[in-house]
Amino acid sequence: MHERLRMVENQIAGRGIRDPALLNAMRLIPREMFVEKGFEMFAYNDSPLPIGRGQTISQPYMVALMIEAAEIKPDDTVLEIGAGLGYATAILSRMAGRVFAVERHASLAAGASERLQRLGYGNIDLRCGDGSKGWPKAAPFSAILVSAAAPEVPQALKEQLATGGRLVIPVGPEGHRQTLMKIVRKGPDDFATQTLGAVIFVPLISEQGGTEDL
Ligand code: SAH
Repeated sequence: MHERLRMVENQIAGRGIRDPALLNAMRLIPREMFVEKGFEMFAYNDSPLPIGRGQTISQPYMVALMIEAAEIKPDDTVLEIGAGLGYATAILSRMAGRVFAVERHASLAAGASERLQRLGYGNIDLRCGDGSKGWPKAAPFSAILVSAAAPEVPQALKEQLATGGRLVIPVGPEGHRQTLMKIVRKGPDDFATQTLGAVIFVPLISEQGGTEDL
């Protein structure tokens, strides 16, 4: 608990993250529940950690930076792509009205569902599948967060933003530095793009026909 509060003060608030709802959610969510077994003692380190299947939980500051950029408000409907074991999903669920989350690895999606259920968070719909085409049936979204890097901004995700909606996504080639981008939908065909800096994420892996039922 003390470690968690220290993490929020030093790594998150100390680096300029201000959103009170986000800071409160990060003070609340036990990050040790969302890392690979055996790594719990490192849960409050200033770094990414393994979650299994070659994937990682993002550095806490990166999660905070993306969520703050997404400007989450209490009534928002949010889509998260690349849920992993569900750490960012848990934070989003404490800040937004409803959270939809997609994870392509079945074992991680099952692990996330189990953890989020154990915490008793009831405003989350989590599915296993390819999230690169979004979740058309649940759209439009006030915010979409993508936790894996895409070679370019997927058109389907832009189309699933509500007017005023924010898309936060790392864009760039696999294995290189990518650029964290924020895209705000101003109107039906009017998008404002802002870059938030250089980042390194695991790749967003698109499959054929994975989301027809979403
Ligand atoms: N948000 C997570 C970070 C997980 S890492 C956290 O807070 O811990 C990124 C995740 O994206 C990986 O689990 C990976 O399996 C998943 N992923 C990659 N491509 C995907 C796709 N097309 N659809 C859904 N998930 C995807």
